[in-house]
Amino acid sequence: MIDWTEEQQMVREAVKRFVDEEVRPHVEELEHGDLPPYDILRKMLATFGMDDLARDRFDRQIARETELAAAAARGEAAPEATKEPKGGDGAGLTLIPTIELCRVCPGMVTAMGVSMGLTAAAILAKGTTAQKVRWARDLLTMEKVGAWAITEPGSGSDAFGSMKSTARRDGDDYILNGSKTFITNGPYADTTVFICKLDEGNAPEQRKVLSFVLDRGMPGFVQSKPLRKMGMHSSPTGELFLDDVRVGRDRLIGETENVSSGGRDGAKATFMQERAGVAAMALGVIEECLQLSVQYAKDRVQFGKRIGDFQLIQEKLARMEVARMNVQNLVFRTIEMSTTGHSMTLAEASAMKLYSARAATEVALEAVQLHGGNGYMSEFRVEQLARDAKVLQIYAGTDEIQITHIAKDLLRR
Ligand SMILES: Cc1cc2nc3c(=O)[nH]c(=O)nc-3n(C[C@H](O)[C@H](O)[C@H](O)COP(=O)(O)OP(=O)(O)OC[C@H]3O[C@@H](n4cnc5c(N)ncnc54)[C@H](O)[C@@H]3O)c2cc1C
Repeated sequence: MIDWTEEQQMVREAVKRFVDEEVRPHVEELEHGDLPPYDILRKMLATFGMDDLARDRFDRQIARETELAAAAARGEAAPEATKEPKGGDGAGLTLIPTIELCRVCPGMVTAMGVSMGLTAAAILAKGTTAQKVRWARDLLTMEKVGAWAITEPGSGSDAFGSMKSTARRDGDDYILNGSKTFITNGPYADTTVFICKLDEGNAPEQRKVLSFVLDRGMPGFVQSKPLRKMGMHSSPTGELFLDDVRVGRDRLIGETENVSSGGRDGAKATFMQERAGVAAMALGVIEECLQLSVQYAKDRVQFGKRIGDFQLIQEKLARMEVARMNVQNLVFRTIEMSTTGHSMTLAEASAMKLYSARAATEVALEAVQLHGGNGYMSEFRVEQLARDAKVLQIYAGTDEIQITHIAKDLLRR
């Protein structure tokens, strides 16, 4: 893929119009936490029929799974028509809303991605058919808001090693305890995937990692108010507290303690998906910063010249364009791989995330510099984008953690 197709360009234009009409007028309220992002996101999904598409795709998947299970119960091979189709041309269309929303309100993408992406994906990847129907369908359409909780006050980059949250068996049930922090959608989530360790009285490093699904309002489960933070204000972030929350096995993802079901493998698959999505987010930030900077370089006059005539300003614009081209190519590669049914390695996804997140942060900070004092003022928008871009280097694995994953892969060869 070397450029957007005609169809993709038409979709971009339509989404851009939606963002101009439905998001830009509300940026102030979204940014000051007065307006949670969910209703606008639902409206976007409905406007483009994305909710119906997600529902139809989900229903087909469930029908396929049910048919496969019935065939297996009869001891028959899977019927040809029920085999999972690979690839498809939907990846570009899925990433376009991410790019366009990130030009204006990257936090909305974080809120949407965590709910429809991470939380639903965790249940879809390892959950039973009944669990998918119970929780994932509503997450995929944003009828319900989802949160995916692994980070704790004492465990971030070393998510598994230092994890303190526990599940203890109690008859047929489990008793969950622990606290989570920095959880996107935490304050508003209807459905939360809670990742913890099974405490069988063994050493913490030997414990199995399990994932449970929690509903808002369960006894002993407290969701905090949104935390105050540097940027991404349109994405509410909070803490979760669990004090002897009793759950049945029906809430254990996969309904089995088998470690390949919903534990470390499930969480790792989620990391990969997050990382690939960050490139599209970065592209939106870079495109908007570049466009605003080019315009400002033409309009702003100092020393009797437009500032775009100064070579130091031209260098900034040129570097922004190089970043835009590189990140766009990474996005095209993601789309092409998905369309042709190829999957990325963890190291590749990490390299993409590392480069894109750094590029977005550098471009946004340079855009502030190019705008001078105006760049430091909220009115000029690059100020918000610079604050928002910074977190791309922190969440979904910090830059330093991406580097360790890339290097580990290189050194293993
Ligand atoms: C806005 C926002 C939203 C988030 N949303 C979610 C969410 O929805 N769900 C969720 O579970 N978590 C979420 N997080 C948490 C996020 O994933 C963690 O903040 C991140 O993984 C880093 O962990 P930490 O903050 O504990 O930093 P630490 O791990 O304490 O790292 C501190 C510093 O040490 C460095 N460091 C750590 N280990 C190494 C090493 N081995 N080598 C070199 N340097 C190292 C780090 O790179 C960093 O610079 C969110 C965070 C933010 C800011």
